[in-house]
This record gives sequence, structure tokens and C-alpha cells, in this order.
Amino acid sequence: MTESKGSVIIVGGGIVGVCNALALQKAGFAVTLIDRGQPGRETSYGNAGVLCESAISVVNSPAMLRALPKLLLGRSNGLRFSVSYVLRRLGWMLRFLSYGNKRHWHAAGRALRDLQLVSLAQHKAWIAEAGVDDLLRHGAWMKVFRSEASFAAYEERELLDEVGSNYTVFEREQIRQIEPALKPIYAKALLLEDTCQVSSPAQLTDAYLGLFTAAGGTVVRAKVTGLIDNPGGWQIETEEAGRLVSDQLVIAAGAWSAEIAGWLGYDLPLGWERGYHLHLEPDVGPPLTRAVLDMDGGFAMAPMQQGVRITSGVEITDRDAPPNYTQVRNSVKQARGALALKGEVEDVPWMGRRPTMIDSLPVIGAAPRHSGLWFNFGHQHVGLSMAPGSALALCAMMQAMPEPVDMHLFRATRFRI
Ligand SMILES: Cc1cc2nc3c(=O)[nH]c(=O)nc-3n(C[C@H](O)[C@H](O)[C@H](O)COP(=O)(O)OP(=O)(O)OC[C@H]3O[C@@H](n4cnc5c(N)ncnc54)[C@H](O)[C@@H]3O)c2cc1C
Repeated sequence: MTESKGSVIIVGGGIVGVCNALALQKAGFAVTLIDRGQPGRETSYGNAGVLCESAISVVNSPAMLRALPKLLLGRSNGLRFSVSYVLRRLGWMLRFLSYGNKRHWHAAGRALRDLQLVSLAQHKAWIAEAGVDDLLRHGAWMKVFRSEASFAAYEERELLDEVGSNYTVFEREQIRQIEPALKPIYAKALLLEDTCQVSSPAQLTDAYLGLFTAAGGTVVRAKVTGLIDNPGGWQIETEEAGRLVSDQLVIAAGAWSAEIAGWLGYDLPLGWERGYHLHLEPDVGPPLTRAVLDMDGGFAMAPMQQGVRITSGVEITDRDAPPNYTQVRNSVKQARGALALKGEVEDVPWMGRRPTMIDSLPVIGAAPRHSGLWFNFGHQHVGLSMAPGSALALCAMMQAMPEPVDMHLFRATRFRI
């Protein structure tokens, strides 16, 4: 057994925190993971299950800026927003939009791709180690376009070419052959050949957590309410488990991370993009074999253990405002035009919160003003894909070892916090 490198507490047991726990444990740290609920049951539960090595176009892209007038008029199913919330967080919104330039788009794309490649390789290794290969599908992410015009307007292809992503473009008839479950409403499809998908993100997190606990990792179910920087270590106050102590501390609490880091005086520009899903029973006929993103409809259809998961686009509103199911209901209506679907599996759609920084890149690295404090959050639309790579990178930083890829765009110090 490796000699212990000291103790670490990780706050947040989503896929990011769980992968971080596993990577640090394997590096020889004594790790405790704290979550206020069952790990992997917030945002990490309800995504489309895509493990992508080429999800590299940040949301605040030049194309998004050009589409802004249409988006603001509420004419897109991909985006819904609360006017009063946007006005209250106008500063954050304007800073977010200020990154919508080509320079950031290219730089962010290359940085995301590098870390996603590391991440996908580590996912495959841990999936094999956990013995859950049955969850994994290969060649499992296809973007579909309803018209030639919408495919022609798809700028991300430029970025895919730049970083050398492996993809194939299919015409209407070829789409019918490779994905016969889809009705013939799509003019073009782009299949990301190396991307994988899991049929249950929750079971994936459970499997990684199983590796962690089997090797002696500790999981504490408690709400963290305070952090105290004592000489030589950290004191973590919780509601249900009292006071815990550790040498080092990682904040990996998704959309709640900025609030928690705020207790120590950090002002992190983190927002959230809420999203929904609902499962539908597939009708008789060929089953859907991969996750499909309808680029014009602004929703995804993903085969899951519970049925076909229809996910909504983005909702911008207060993190804890009551759910509004309009967007996901509209997505389901459109999905019925694309696939043969029967009844809804759940009565009530699921809702989650993608944690998003103003530059759409995660924060992975040391907190600037506290020794032994580390950040790992803000993975927006790609947290499932990027969790293992982010964990390996942070693990390297915590041991002052060479990082697996250039991490300078991900460091917390890129902001004045
Ligand atoms: C509809 C939808 C589809 C998506 N599809 C994909 C996809 O296909 N592929 C992909 O890569 N990504 C996808 N994403 C994004 C991905 O799901 C997120 O980026 C990822 O789940 C974020 O993980 P996390 O661990 O940072 O956050 P979370 O999963 O939200 O975990 C944060 C954890 O912190 C805990 N916590 C918070 N506060 C406290 C506290 N005070 N004390 C203790 N614990 C606390 C919470 O209980 C929670 O478990 C999708 C997201 C959505 C909404």
C-alpha cells in the first residue's frame, strides 16, 4: 500500500468530487468525501451520459452572440430565461457575453479538448476496473440538423478540424441506415466517432464510489456549513456529522461551490444553467443506439436504462427557483416527431444545475490566498466528460507534479477573486 500523503476532505459528491476522491486516494492520500445527500444525485444524475472528447465549443461563442437577438426574443427552445433574474445578475451576464470572441473560443476549445482526451482515457480505465463495461457505448454522440442551412451554419466544425477530432458527416439516407430509430426529418448528421456514452450516469458514479470505498475511502453524508482555516489544517463544520478535520480541502460542490468558497472571502464568478429531463418508453421498432443532439430543436435524446431520456436546453433563473417544465415539455413534443415514443416514465421531470463560470471553463487549481485549499468546479455542460481529467490534473497540482496537460486557462488566478 502507498504511504499516506496526508488527509484530504472533498466537499461535494457529484461526479467531479467522486472522481477527485478516487484519484487522490490512488495517489496515496487519506480521503473523506462529504455530500449532504446521496453522492451523484444532483446534476451528475440527470445528464445525457455523454463522455465526450470533443465537446469543445463554449456556450458563449461568437455564434451565440450573433443569435442573441433571437434568443432574447424567447424564440429558441434551447434557452429560456427569467428577465428579473438576468437584470439582477446583469454584471455576470455581461462578463459572460464578453468572452464571446473568436480568440477565447479557439483557446478554450483547445484547452477543453486536451483535458477531455485525458478524461476519456481515464473513464475507460476506471470503468474497466469497476467492472461496469456494460454501461458503456462507443461512437455514441451524434448531432443532427433539420436542414442543410443549419448544418452550413454549424461553426463548431472549424474547431473540430483544428483539434483533429474524429468525426463523420452523414446524409439523410445514411442517417436512416446508421440510426434507423430516427424518423427521416434530419438532413445531415455529424457523428463524433471517439465519443462514448453511459446508460446510467448515476450507476457510473456509484461504481467509482464503490472503488473508492472498497479501497478504504470514507463517505460522510452531511451538509457542510462552515470552513475554518486553522494553523496546519482545515476544520469543516457540518450539520449532521459535527466537526471534521483534514490537512487539505477540495471544494467540488458544483453550482454551490462559489457560495462555499465565499465563506472564505472568495468572489468567484460562477453561475448556473438549469436543465431538465424526462424519460419516455420507446415504441416498438429499432431502438435508439446512441445519444443524439437535435441542433435545431435544442434538446437531446439519449438511450438510458429508464427509457429514452429527453433533456431540455438551458434555463437561466435563480438556482433555487421552483422548476418550470415548459422547456422540457416542448422538447418531449419535438422528440415525438423524431422518434417513435410511448408514454412518459415519470410523472414529474427531473431538474439539475450546470455550474458555469463567466468564461465557460472550469476552475481547477489552488485557491490563491489559502494554503491547502483547492478548487474543482464549474464544468458547465461537460462535467461528466471532464471529471476524471480534472481530478488527475488537480491531483498532480496537489503533489507539485507535472500536470497531464497545460492547465493555465483553468486556474482560479485567471480571475481577480
Ligand atoms: C440536462 C443536462 C444534460 C447534461 N449532459 C451532459 C453530458 O451528456 N455529458 C457531460 O459531460 N455533462 C453533461 N451535463 C453537465 C454535467 O451533468 C455537469 O457538468 C456535472 O454533473 C457537474 O458535476 P458536479 O460534481 O460539479 O456537480 P453536482 O453533480 O451538482 O454535485 C455537487 C454536489 O455538491 C453537493 N453539495 C452542495 N452543497 C453542499 C454542502 N453545503 N455540503 C455538502 N454537499 C454539498 C451536492 O449535494 C451535490 O451532490 C449535463 C447537464 C444537464 C443539466
